[in-house]
Amino acid sequence: MQVASVLMRSGLIDPLDDVVDFTRKSVSSFAPGPRFAEFFDHKTGTENLEIHADGWVSDYGIVGLEMAACPVCGTEISIQNVQELELIKAELVRASHQFLKTGDDVLLPCPICTGENLIKYWQTEPHLGFCQLAFVFWNWPPVQECRYDLVRFLGETLKHNIVFTYGRL
Ligand SMILES: [Zn+2]
Repeated sequence: MQVASVLMRSGLIDPLDDVVDFTRKSVSSFAPGPRFAEFFDHKTGTENLEIHADGWVSDYGIVGLEMAACPVCGTEISIQNVQELELIKAELVRASHQFLKTGDDVLLPCPICTGENLIKYWQTEPHLGFCQLAFVFWNWPPVQECRYDLVRFLGETLKHNIVFTYGRL
């Protein structure tokens, strides 16, 4: 995995020798690297960076969805529109299964105007992924405690546009 090699050379991560995921070759786990202390004050001791090098969707982002803006009618469906937001979440779960299975762009219908458009044209809060490369920071200190902008560091190191997202159970 080329992305992992670049991040290991940067010192952010090291190989994890006790965890091997045989079920999905496209998902790899890494431990914090020698430069971790430059980024954060303290370790939790159980940090793990998962790199997903194929389809990834933020399940926790769908659960905690706060807003979805329809690219057809422009309506911003937010937590004030409980019923519509629940309909969108159900559609997103279905779209997520389809995306993870096929890797294709999937359509998301709008409960307001019934128009459909590709997920990538919907604006959501938080961002939901539906991407081909993702970094999941398990048990790392909160990104707000990071001395440098970790998202920017990843973007500059990998020469790739990186978007920050979050979610909740
Ligand atoms: Zn609409």
